[in-house]
This record gives sequence, structure tokens and C-alpha cells, in this order.
Amino acid sequence: MFSAYSYELLVNMLKKVTIAGVSAEPGQKAYGVVKVPDLFADGQDLEIPFIIYNGAKDGPRVHLQIAQHPNEVYALNGIRRVIGDLDPKALSGVITFCLPNPVGFRFGLYYGRTITHDINRVLSGNPDGTVMERIVNSWWVNFVENKADYLIDFHGVPQETFVFYEAHGVSPDVPKEVNDKSERMAKLYSARVLKKETEAYGGGKSFRGACVDHGIPAIVPEVAVDGADISETGLRNILVDLGMIKGKIKLPHKQYILNWESDTKAAIVTNKKAGFFRSLVKVGDIVKKGNKLGVIFDPRTLQDIETLTAHRDGYVSSIQPLPVKSVCENIMQIDEILEEITNT
Ligand SMILES: [Zn+2]
Repeated sequence: MFSAYSYELLVNMLKKVTIAGVSAEPGQKAYGVVKVPDLFADGQDLEIPFIIYNGAKDGPRVHLQIAQHPNEVYALNGIRRVIGDLDPKALSGVITFCLPNPVGFRFGLYYGRTITHDINRVLSGNPDGTVMERIVNSWWVNFVENKADYLIDFHGVPQETFVFYEAHGVSPDVPKEVNDKSERMAKLYSARVLKKETEAYGGGKSFRGACVDHGIPAIVPEVAVDGADISETGLRNILVDLGMIKGKIKLPHKQYILNWESDTKAAIVTNKKAGFFRSLVKVGDIVKKGNKLGVIFDPRTLQDIETLTAHRDGYVSSIQPLPVKSVCENIMQIDEILEEITNT
């Protein structure tokens, strides 16, 4: 039972959440759209659809968005299972969800010549900039700036689901606590693989990077085609860990933190002979330097002409699917293992 004082305190702590003129009172859900005007020659506004879940109890604010890269959609069914029917009365804190790139989503494609650069390399965008920059800025001001304490920006589609996050020191002047919280979310996502950015990459920063720069812990799950189950477990784990919903955290027995390298050449296995590649390993295998990885054979003689071996210890992160190889192709990627985690 609340005393009058604590009831008043509770009411003061809980607030109506308003985005683009749409409000949700504590304990309510609301649907809306953010209109981004003056982008396209036909004069139609871009409408970014969103949902607000304003919890009946106080708690953190989490923003979720998926498919800013239009075909990177495979977490969506997992997200639906967690929040589709979520009752805000059973929620502590606020969840916002949006489809950040609705035109791309509609066609599963980037849209034509209006794409001048990667939508995910313009930081938090620019309200007076290009089409991409204005769209990204609308996410920033409506869902993140002073509105979110955590961000999950869902992408895809690697061969095996992994979660990307950055190490302390990549974004200058960001307290270690922010990176620790990102790493905690990355582990909780429950994928077998995490990729930790330990060096800054060139060519512009991602939206996730912009969030971290502003002290907001943020992760990018890179979700594979079969990644709905992991995404459901992962999102649920994160919300449970933040105290926003009730539930039990489930983690795989083993997880691996791999070193994300800006120079992908360091990880790539290539061939000296052209031909047909027959793999002796699969994605997810752990190899030692010198281990046999596969064989190139000559499709005219059906004789082996080259044996490929691992150039370093590591984790087989990807194998290029087409086995027909010209000389010096990207055959597979072996990433360095920074940490092996055993969950009990
Ligand atoms: Zn992406």
C-alpha cells in the first residue's frame, strides 16, 4: 500500500511520453508516425511509423529500430514475439519501436539515385542535409536525443547471427561504464558470437556510434536468416536484465567475443590456384594456425591442386557460398577470439 507521499512521488516520476504529437500516458501504448517533409520530388512526406510503450512503472527508456538497411529484417519476428502484445501495465520504463527506413522496407531495396551514401554512416544526421541525413536526424531527435537510455539497432544478414558493439576508447571521452553496458547487452542478446570493435573504422560513423558518442549504450545485432529465435531470447534477456519486464535470462553455454578489424584483409583466407573449393570446415568452427580448411580442385581433371590452411588461430565467421573460385578470392574469414565465455 502506498502512503500519500509515495503515491505522489510515483505520479511525479511517471510521465506522459509524446513523440511527433502522439502521446502515451503511463500504462498505455500508442501508435504514430514521424513525418519527414521535403525529401522527395512528388511532395509526399516520408512517414516513419512508431510505437510507444509507456510502462506503468518507472524504468529505463529503450529504443528499438530495425531495417535501416532495407533487407536486414530477420530480427523482426523475434521483436514481435517480445513486444507485439506487451502490456504497458506490466512494463517498467519506456520502449519505443520504429521502422526507420519505411520506403526501403517497402521494396527491400535502397531507393535509387537519392542514396548518395550509406544511411548508417552519417552519425546522427543533419536536418538540413541530404535525404539520408534528414531521415537519420529524424530518428535522432524523435527517438534518441533526451529520449532513450539504450539503443538496439537491428541489422543483418551474416551467415551466423552476431552482435556488434564497441570497446572503451573507440569513441573518445566516453566513460567506460557506457561501453560496459553495451557489452552487457551484447552478451545478453544470447548469440554465440559477439564482435567487438577495438579500432575506429573509416568512412563515417554509424547511428549506433553516434549514440555511444552521446553516452547512450548501443548495440547492433547482425541477425542471420534463422535469427528470430535468438532475437526473441536476446531482446527478452535485455529487458529482463534492465528490470523492465519479468522473466528468466537464458544464455548459451559458450559465447565468443571476436575482434572486429577495420582491415578485413587480415581475416580473409585466399587461394593461389583457381578452381573449385571444397570446404573441410564450417561456419562456427574454431581453428588453429596450420589447420586444413579446404581444398581447391581442378574441374577439368578433378584432381586436388591446392590445400588451404589457416593463417592464424581463430573462429570461422563466414565462408563464401559459391565454390567456383578465380585466383585470390575471399574464400572465408577467420576472426581472432578475444574471449571465450562459459555461462553456467
Ligand atoms: Zn546493416
